Amino acid sequence: MENQGRNRKRLVLVPGPFQGHLTPMLQLATILKSKDFSITIAHTQFNSPDSSAHPDFTFLCIPDGLSEEEVRNPDLIAVVLRLNVNCESSFRECLTRGTNRMEPGDKICCIIYDALVYFSEAVARDLKIPSVVLHTISAATTIVRPILLQLKTQGHIPIPDSMLQVPVPLHQPLRFKDLPLSNFGSLDYFLEVVALTYNLRSSLAIIFNTIYCLEESPLAQLHQRYQVPIFPVGPLHKLAPTSAVSLLQEDTGCIPWLDKQTHNSVIYVSLGSVAHLNQDQLSEMAWGLANSKEPFLWVIRPGSIPGSEWIESMDEEFKECVKDRGCIVKWAPQKKVLAHEAVGGFWSHCGWNSTLESICAGVPLICQPCFGDQKVNARYLTHEWRVGLELEGEIERGTVERAIRTLMKEKEGEEMRQRVFDLKHKFDVSTGDGGSSCHYLSKLVELLTSL
Ligand code: UDP
Repeated sequence: MENQGRNRKRLVLVPGPFQGHLTPMLQLATILKSKDFSITIAHTQFNSPDSSAHPDFTFLCIPDGLSEEEVRNPDLIAVVLRLNVNCESSFRECLTRGTNRMEPGDKICCIIYDALVYFSEAVARDLKIPSVVLHTISAATTIVRPILLQLKTQGHIPIPDSMLQVPVPLHQPLRFKDLPLSNFGSLDYFLEVVALTYNLRSSLAIIFNTIYCLEESPLAQLHQRYQVPIFPVGPLHKLAPTSAVSLLQEDTGCIPWLDKQTHNSVIYVSLGSVAHLNQDQLSEMAWGLANSKEPFLWVIRPGSIPGSEWIESMDEEFKECVKDRGCIVKWAPQKKVLAHEAVGGFWSHCGWNSTLESICAGVPLICQPCFGDQKVNARYLTHEWRVGLELEGEIERGTVERAIRTLMKEKEGEEMRQRVFDLKHKFDVSTGDGGSSCHYLSKLVELLTSL
């Protein structure tokens, strides 16, 4: 399979070790493979992808030196910092010595790395290999992140209550409360990662999993700031639809359940691969869903409710009340779910992949951002593209019930459905022949071929 490609140009792609980062990088790899590049995925041991699902790529495992204890650390930012420190020398060694079916001296024309694993750029620079960075967050989030660093030097972090509702100058529609602060562990660690991922260093270009028509203004600002080519080639899942990327096992049993539901009747609920819920939030979500009387498909990841394996702590009364009207799974085939005609709404944490997938499927959203870039995405969804309703503040069953009714049954929801449908159409045009994403993809391939 791989490596009849001896004469092909080899790209080494380094994904970030979380679902929302692995997915777009593997999709990009699939697309570049189809453009005749040889592909090596260089990944950390932590959250390593399933190599057997990608026989066309070679895989290079970078020893990351994380202890059992570090792997279990809920402060993911601390994990990211540690990985970047640990992997720099081991990645350099992997590339110079050659392991895992990559021959020493195998000509690598470029290293494409996720902004989160910035150690890759240091190695590329050292070995004089050109590098290109992939941002798996929106252009809007990328452009506002440095504001957090300014606020820190002005002594405004944590952001004072009096500033929360104030618009961020020049960054309509964001308020200071929408800025992408993390709620993991140490704030100083987080700001360190922001500073490090914001710095382009020697990279030749930036790839974004976004679409020109959706983020024209932030993309233009980024171009001014960085002065290197920027390639908005998204949504990558539309250009690489068959790529198998899940770290968790998908439960496809929800599809026959969806088949039994009527058109646009189901609200799909998922808070992505990282967010956690406490028992109160779980209970308020559950009773909001139950009281709405609408059918729902709910993803609850094992371990996402501290103190519970899965949903054993859930109210029996709730289970009795919803019976077959609700389907709860550990992990869903999300893109298939969103494309299913029974799904009429997505109650989402607004991770960037979920945001793009929902728009591509023409599904309006209830936005419940938890932290980081989700807050920026939610604000854009609700106040710029106007295809979602925002759930603000603490989750409360009455608010949830009203939001579901509004989205699924009322004129306001219908108008959002129409707008997201129009946006979906624009995405179709952008990813079709002659569309902007295809144009930028050709430009990217031209650049990589020239190296
Ligand atoms: N996802 C999935 N099944 C699920 C929940 C999520 O396949 O049950 C996928 C979803 O399609 C998306 C990714 O996981 O591609 C989540 O990425 P996102 O950027 O939305 O959020 P994150 O998990 O990084 O917070």
